[in-house]
Amino acid sequence: MTIFLSALQHYAFCPRQCALIHNEQVWAENYLTAQGAVLHERVDSGVTETRKNIRYERSVHVSSEKLDLAGILDMLEHNLQTGTLKPIEYKRGKPKPTLIDEIQLCAQALCLEEMLNQKIDEGALWYQQTRHRIPILFTDQLRTKTLTIIEQVHRLLESGKTPLPTYSKQCKACSLFEFCQPQLFNNDKSISYVANLFTVQDNLEQLMDDA
Ligand code: SF4
Repeated sequence: MTIFLSALQHYAFCPRQCALIHNEQVWAENYLTAQGAVLHERVDSGVTETRKNIRYERSVHVSSEKLDLAGILDMLEHNLQTGTLKPIEYKRGKPKPTLIDEIQLCAQALCLEEMLNQKIDEGALWYQQTRHRIPILFTDQLRTKTLTIIEQVHRLLESGKTPLPTYSKQCKACSLFEFCQPQLFNNDKSISYVANLFTVQDNLEQLMDDA
């Protein structure tokens, strides 16, 4: 089953969100996804251009047969003098405390490496809020982490099971909040009520057997 690069981000945010979007095709916009869409519209609308021996390609489709992975990267910088390639990803907001943006970028590099049979050592992340570009080295450590996450996402999506909601503070930023209703699930005592009923019934039967 081919997974999308975006599934890695969704998985890191919440495995349930990942399964809802990629297996159950649930989608909803909130102000964060809308901001992201506007940013990408701007990035994607630019044409390919060459400046100072660097060719800038936008919205490049990438895939990996080995990893069963596909997606679109925001920009690919091709140094025409040295031949080096650099994937660039544009992000709404600011750098995150987790490595997930680095992992998504590294996954893009792994796809490019397989497609072009060329090692890619470095990429960059650009954040809209800080207006800052951060160089990212594709170290062995980052590659290993990326492969682990890809494997986990495959396992989740191929299982066909959507994890139950776990209410956490990130739920407030989740575009699927209304659909998921995690706070209701957490307050739903019916599951434990039904489980208790069976326990009481089992105990009664045990007492009658013992009598
Ligand atoms: S609302 Fe919370 S539990 Fe539900 S999909 Fe979003 S982040 Fe996950």
